[in-house]
Amino acid sequence: MAGAALAAFERIGLVHIPVGTGNSALLVRAIETLEPDAVVMTPSYAAHLAEGHDLRDSSVQRVLVAGEPGGGEPAFRAKLEEGWGAKVTEAMGVGDIGPSLFGECEQQDGMHLGAHGFAHLELIDPETGDARELEDGAEGELVLTHLRHRAAPLLRFRTRDHVTVATSPCACGREGPRIRCIGRTDDMIIVRGVNVFPSAIRQLVNTFAPQVSGHILVRPTAPGVKQEPPLPVTVELAPNATAGDELAQAIASKVRAELTVRTEIELVPFGHLQRSEYKSRLVAAAPERTVTSFGHD
Ligand SMILES: [Zn+2]
Repeated sequence: MAGAALAAFERIGLVHIPVGTGNSALLVRAIETLEPDAVVMTPSYAAHLAEGHDLRDSSVQRVLVAGEPGGGEPAFRAKLEEGWGAKVTEAMGVGDIGPSLFGECEQQDGMHLGAHGFAHLELIDPETGDARELEDGAEGELVLTHLRHRAAPLLRFRTRDHVTVATSPCACGREGPRIRCIGRTDDMIIVRGVNVFPSAIRQLVNTFAPQVSGHILVRPTAPGVKQEPPLPVTVELAPNATAGDELAQAIASKVRAELTVRTEIELVPFGHLQRSEYKSRLVAAAPERTVTSFGHD
């Protein structure tokens, strides 16, 4: 589906060089020899490349990330911008509805709906399905409806994307609400009645950079979405970082203060957690997977 966006690049007069994932050396060589102005990839892959290669002096001025949350998290974005020496903006599409429906402007302050007139946007409470106002600071699951699709149009399609809404005027002049995806409803964990998104934990962990690498893994101890505290979270340290208990405690305190969830932080050396060339997995498989009713109507 994301490949459909390639036609849009041509339409605005860009030459695109399709490289794909799976061969980082080839991609870096393409950047060095063909000197593109921009690259488009998942935030996980952008982080992975910047970890293994010095890209700060490359020709790339723009990194457009999409496909998973992350690009809009301030600390994660700052790390990507430093690693690439480039401006990072995020975009978001929904495979079932359309590619690149939303995108950030120069202000990097949430994604504008670029698909006005093609898709209708709603916000709902993911548990009850009740509609929520699209007002400043609102949060909920994104629901989209095709307006002009002639083949298999979808009505009130639940994206499972959990978003926050901003309606304050944007300096770019575009109107309408802006969104930021903070996680997948599917990834949500409920710890003693508190809804927790692994991406929200990662966002807090990232504020401890440069001591941490930004890679985390939540390790549920029981099958299903409901977990008992403390929730085990593996946090990877930055290269050569030697932090210990003090850092683990500081991270746990911050997560508890901001998300009201008790975690047990395990620090591991740099390179310990698996990297992704596509989308990062933030949650490890539970000890024994059983079917849960959560998230299925
Ligand atoms: Zn704007």
